[in-house]
Amino acid sequence: MGVQRSLMLGRNPARGAFGIKLACREEFIAPVARLLLKMDDRFAGLAIMPEKEEGRMPWSARQIAAIQAALLQWFRSHARDLPWRRTRDPYAVFVSEVMLQQTQAATVVPYFGRWMKRFPTWQALAEAPLEGVLKAWEGLGYYHRARNLHRAAKEVCGKHGGKLPADYYKVLSLPGVGRYTVGAICSIAFGMRLPVLDGNVVRVLARLANFRAPVDTSAAQKRLWAWAEALTPERHPGDFNQSLMELGALVCARSKPACLLCPVRTFCRAEDPGSLPAKVRRVALAPLIEDVEIVIRRGRVLVCCDPAAPRWPGLWQFPRTRATGPGEPWHSLAFAFTRFRGQMRAWLRPVRRAGAHERWVSARELATAPMPAPHRKLASRVEGLLVGRGPDLARPFA
Ligand code: SF4
Repeated sequence: MGVQRSLMLGRNPARGAFGIKLACREEFIAPVARLLLKMDDRFAGLAIMPEKEEGRMPWSARQIAAIQAALLQWFRSHARDLPWRRTRDPYAVFVSEVMLQQTQAATVVPYFGRWMKRFPTWQALAEAPLEGVLKAWEGLGYYHRARNLHRAAKEVCGKHGGKLPADYYKVLSLPGVGRYTVGAICSIAFGMRLPVLDGNVVRVLARLANFRAPVDTSAAQKRLWAWAEALTPERHPGDFNQSLMELGALVCARSKPACLLCPVRTFCRAEDPGSLPAKVRRVALAPLIEDVEIVIRRGRVLVCCDPAAPRWPGLWQFPRTRATGPGEPWHSLAFAFTRFRGQMRAWLRPVRRAGAHERWVSARELATAPMPAPHRKLASRVEGLLVGRGPDLARPFA
């Protein structure tokens, strides 16, 4: 007897315009889900696209086959030799895809190598303390990715016997996995025909089709996903997906695309590639001032690790303070945080008692504590104070 369970299906694909709730046997979930997703996409598309544009595909079947062949051939001879491309191990693919979210490949390379040495399997990652996982992630930013990866490892070990299941819905249900990530992981690791749509792919598709409408609307996203899906071949979908992303990274770059070197230039309709993709929102970075206090007692500095902190929860940081001045801060540094242009100001403060989530740490402990990038930069200055090489501190400390 099959397992009874309920499943929400829709465009994303777990939830959509119809929000249909099913109670069905496990063996029927995948085919029924695919059928409903198709219906859901079709009707959702009709609801938000102008009638004359609905369903229009920029390329014929013959052109699609030629684009697939050209990109696959180009990828095999021009792709960068990146460490995660030397394996199809689902764990390694999973780790690399999570690291590559919002981070460039060149930055990820050393982190990936260190991570795979320190946590070579799902089990090793699941059994590691969160603090060690965050320390290994230190500097990559967007720490929710590390926490999700750690939780995903626990789920893979707890529910799937330490092996990533080759199942779209089971992978999609893991923490931190969305439509892009499940497509990348399942196409690369398991050869499943699934599309991907990240910033590079959006740029390539918008230019190939000379798509001049803003790409950051739900209607445009729906259309781009449909194009990506139509382009994805049955054979070698993982290589094809990577070829689209690689083309966007190396050739069809944001500024100055190298069209003369492009393997699909004969199919490209872009009239002014540099102006594409168009966007509705140009988000201006908002200023953010972060005031922290540096409190030192007998060669130790006060730090805090609040699991409910508004920024960087679970990471060690210098305590925030609202009391600023008098005069100038002891040290100031600029940092970037999501959509903010931040400035961190550090104020030297007299000794006080440690509060909730706070503790005194030595220079050695400070060096090994997982900290977000701006606090880590500040820590390297504070270490100078702890070993007595810093500026004169006689005044603030009793
Ligand atoms: S021809 Fe130029 S604009 Fe078109 S896809 Fe290639 S690099 Fe991009």
